[in-house]
Parts: sequence; C-alpha cells; structure tokens
Amino acid sequence: MQISTTPSSSPVSDERLAEILANPGFGNHFTDHMLTVEWTPADGWHAARIEPYAPLSIDPAAAVLHYAQETFEGMKAYRHDDGSIWSFRPEENAKRMVRSSQRLALPELPVEDFVACVDALVEADRRWVPEGGGEKSLYVRPFMFASEVFLGVRPAQHVTFMVIASPAGAYFKGGVKPVTLWLTEEYTRAGRGGMGAAKTGGNYASSLVAQQEAIAQGCDQVVFLDAQEGEYVEELGGMNLYFVHRDGRVVTPETGTILEGITRASIIELLGKMGHQVEERKFSIQEWKDGVTSGEITEIFACGTAAVVTPVGELKWDGGSAPAAAAVEADDALWTRVRSQLVDVQFGRAEDSFGWMHRI
Ligand code: PMP
Repeated sequence: MQISTTPSSSPVSDERLAEILANPGFGNHFTDHMLTVEWTPADGWHAARIEPYAPLSIDPAAAVLHYAQETFEGMKAYRHDDGSIWSFRPEENAKRMVRSSQRLALPELPVEDFVACVDALVEADRRWVPEGGGEKSLYVRPFMFASEVFLGVRPAQHVTFMVIASPAGAYFKGGVKPVTLWLTEEYTRAGRGGMGAAKTGGNYASSLVAQQEAIAQGCDQVVFLDAQEGEYVEELGGMNLYFVHRDGRVVTPETGTILEGITRASIIELLGKMGHQVEERKFSIQEWKDGVTSGEITEIFACGTAAVVTPVGELKWDGGSAPAAAAVEADDALWTRVRSQLVDVQFGRAEDSFGWMHRI
C-alpha cells in the first residue's frame, strides 16, 4: 500500500508536547497527524494518506451516523530504553478487525496493510511516544466506518479506514489495586448470533447504562452474564476475566459471544509456559460466588490492552455481595507475575521469547 504524507504545518511545540507527555491521562490529546484510506467496490482500498490531524467534515446522511456500521481496534506503541519503538502483536489486532468487519458487512483490510498503516502513523508521530518509564505508551486507535451518503439500510459502498493516536499514562496512578465489580442482572451485551465477538461501537453503546449503574453502586466496572441463561460469566465492559484455582488450574470464559482479547490470548500462552493448565469453558456466576467463599478460587483478575492485568476485588449485585478471592493481595499472587512478565516484554525489559513484539 502506497501512503502519501502531508506533514503538519503547525505541529504541537516541543514545550507543549513535554507538558502533555508528563501527564497524558487517557484519550485527551491527539498526535499531529492522522491516516486515512478509502474503499469503494470499484477501486478497493485506495487514496492512503497521512495528513495533519483535523476534524472531519462528514455528510449528515453518512450511513455510520444512522446504522452504526463501524469497527475499531485498540493497541499501543511502546518506547524501549534505547529509544526504539515497538507494537505488541499488531497482526492480531489486524486479524480481529477482519473478523469484526466480516460481522459488520464491512470490507476486509488486509493484515499487512493494517500493520503498514499503524506503523506509518506511529513513525510520522514518533516524538509523541512517551518514554517507557512509568508504563506510559502511545495508544493507537484504528477504525473503519460506513462513509457512504445514503439512508437505505444495506452495507455501505463507500467506507473509510483511519488511524489516530493518543499518548496514554499509566492506567493505575498510585499502584495497582483490586477493582470492585458490579454484576448486572438486567442488561446483557451480546446474544447468540449477535455481535459480542466484534469490536464495534454498538457493543460499547449498549454497555454504558450498565456501567453507569456500576458507578452509582460505588463499583469500578460491570460484569456481564450470557444473554440466554443469565448464568455464565462473559466479561467486563472492556476486559476479559481469569479465575485462578487452589490447585493452580486457571479458568477463563470461552469465546463465542465475548471479545477475544489479545491480552487474554497472550496470557493463555504465558500461563501454559509457567506450567499452569488453562481451561477455556463456560464459567457460572455460582461457581464464582461459591469459589471465593470456599477458598477454591484464590485469585480473580481482568486483562486488556489498557490496564494489562487488574486484580479483581469484591463483587456486588442487587441485594448481595461476594468477597475478593483470598490470595488476590498476596505479594506472590499469580496475577502480579503475569502482569510483570507482559509489561516487561512490552517495554523491552525481558526477552521476547514468543516473538510478540514488532519494531516500528
Ligand atoms: N473485552 C472487551 C469488551 C474489550 O473492549 C477489550 C479491550 N479491547 C477486551 C475485552 C480486551 O481486549 P484486548 O486484550 O485485545 O485489549
């Protein structure tokens, strides 16, 4: 894919950039450039370009604004101590976007084009990748949407793919602490045959009211159950779940209606290498409640690109609660070892024995 570049004529000054990178937060600041590629049935993917970051002019009848035909990805670029910049398993994000796009009747962007686009934008905005100390990184957001101006309900014949990027601070200020979870028994995020496994805006739109409820109940995040039986644990609004058992077995909910996290898949491989047996299967909410009460479950953790690995504390629901698993705050907890192994590979502080890192 040929990508043309028009450099920004008014990039953020070095002084302002230093200020932003000192305390980037999440999703507040955007780099100097953005990447765009167009698709039509006649021309396929074409007109790939990097331009100065700017608001889009979008027709009010663009299909995405009405029917939410869109997909997106979330990934990070990490700066290593020698100044080099790396991404983590970008082909996996590319493949997931292909699967999401198939579900949303959007065109497939080839894996190598996706990776080339991400690399090109990060390369153009290298100075926006923070120093790796303190777990800062550049969050990269590829997304694809129905840009055709047409109000009929059918797959769009004009689609736009873009990549933007935003510096991200450490997810946890003041140390990693267990999150409190709210179990929603009213809302679900995905049904059989639905879009649960796709990374598409509608799934996040439908999770917001449950997340709002969680916050109102004094919890950090929401746990979703399966839509059919309301019995099996699926995932959090933006993270996958792991349950560590006393005998070293680890269980994670099976795929199908959940988002197949790249962190989740990496942890399965990592745990295998660490000698833990990982079961991907249905895991009931009753098993959770009984397991933390009896001590059969020793740790619960959540994982995703943003926070890497997060320990899970108390679970609350309408009329009850279950305590944190007994060993979640132990110094040698499994989640702390999994977390540091992943973070060390991402920031180039440990050997990348799986070949997960991609140099930009
Ligand atoms: N589940 C949901 C619903 C998510 O939004 C995310 C974040 N992408 C995840 C799980 C974790 O996925 P990943 O490890 O690829 O970030």
